[in-house]
Amino acid sequence: MKVRAQIGMVLNLDKCIGCHTCSITCKNVWTSREGVEYAWFNNVETKPGIGFPKEWENQDKWNGGWSRNKKGNLELKIGSKRRVLANIFGNPDLPEIDDYYEPFDFDYQHLHTAKPSKHQPTARPRSLITGKRMEKVEWGPNWEEILGTEFEKRKKDKNFDDVVQKDMYGQFEKTFMMYLPRLCEHCLNPACVAACPSGAIYKREEDGIVLIDQDKCRGWRMCVSGCPYKKIYYNWKTGKSEKCTFCYPRIEAGQPTTCSETCVGRIRYLGVLLYDADRIEEAANTPNEQDLYEEQLGIFLDPHDPEVQEAARKEGIAENWIQAAQRSPVYMMAMQWKVALPLHPEYRTLPMVWYVPPLSPIQSAVEAGHVGMDGEIPNLKSLRIPLRYLANLLTAGDEKPIVRALERMIAMRSYKRSQHVDGVEDLDVL
Ligand code: SF4
Ligand code: SF4
Repeated sequence: MKVRAQIGMVLNLDKCIGCHTCSITCKNVWTSREGVEYAWFNNVETKPGIGFPKEWENQDKWNGGWSRNKKGNLELKIGSKRRVLANIFGNPDLPEIDDYYEPFDFDYQHLHTAKPSKHQPTARPRSLITGKRMEKVEWGPNWEEILGTEFEKRKKDKNFDDVVQKDMYGQFEKTFMMYLPRLCEHCLNPACVAACPSGAIYKREEDGIVLIDQDKCRGWRMCVSGCPYKKIYYNWKTGKSEKCTFCYPRIEAGQPTTCSETCVGRIRYLGVLLYDADRIEEAANTPNEQDLYEEQLGIFLDPHDPEVQEAARKEGIAENWIQAAQRSPVYMMAMQWKVALPLHPEYRTLPMVWYVPPLSPIQSAVEAGHVGMDGEIPNLKSLRIPLRYLANLLTAGDEKPIVRALERMIAMRSYKRSQHVDGVEDLDVL
């Protein structure tokens, strides 16, 4: 057993209000510089939209993450031959600026002086990259949400009589939406580290944070292709790649990451995990994708077990980290209660940011009388966000862990309410 410590994060999607405060505060701290205007180390996606950058989940397009070869060994999807060719002819597996979005700045002076017209604002935004005024903004990271708002507006318009538009609006009413805040996963088996020809990316021994050594980076951008979460950004000014640092200077000072500290919904929990590093390859190489989530859970160690604590001390893990692992909310939610799940475990990188699936569909089912307040869920098919969608997002298609997590969440909600309501509606606990 080779015990290692990892800092991780749980995000409770039920509580995210999509305010983007986390993205803005992260940007102010880390990427408010020339060269990375388009980069969002933390972004919040409107799902099931195509995300940021566009279609980042389409690994057939980008060749990110790991796959199993014919011999049953793990290999990078962007294989060695493709990497050699990319070095000579250029890398075809890179998102371009239109896949991210063209960052812009409104010309506020003209906003005040422009004549009123049908559509506001009348001042056209300026591209932060070219400096030119943009004709129109075609797409942005939360485009799907904007489109939904547009349909809401059109519905109220008395001229909304176009059959095609009505039909499209009808489709919109049947859709669902949720927010997905995303950052680098600080993976246990990071594809970015393996893809870098310069050996510039490393995973810190003491806390598992994945960083890019700016002195060693030569700007090959294989990490951008290799990362299946598309969470590495190329700085066009310095010619080097950059990524989320998990705010390591703050972590070293005993403070939370900027996104966690400023989160309006208080959805983020930080914690230490202890795991067996000898079992990483075995877990990442699990043949059946649907088993990846359970196999990944199997490598984490019980921090309350004296044998594990002793083994951790022998490996030089600091006493305060062993204690932190014992009171870790990440361990409780992801390993003990199993209500927090990894994002796309099928990429085989063993991601360390965990998500509690949104309970809101169950709450709407409760309100519609489909769910008993004892936590029983008789008809999960009536949920607004389909189970299949959540399973494809969080458990490589296995619906059982999603059902388990949702049932536990609704049971806990029922329990908490029964403690306080007592025949009288207590608004404080609703
Ligand atoms: Fe590397 Fe982060 Fe991408 Fe994982 S999510 S492969 S650690 S950049
Ligand atoms: Fe969601 Fe918190 Fe970010 Fe707001 S600050 S979008 S609530 S994660």
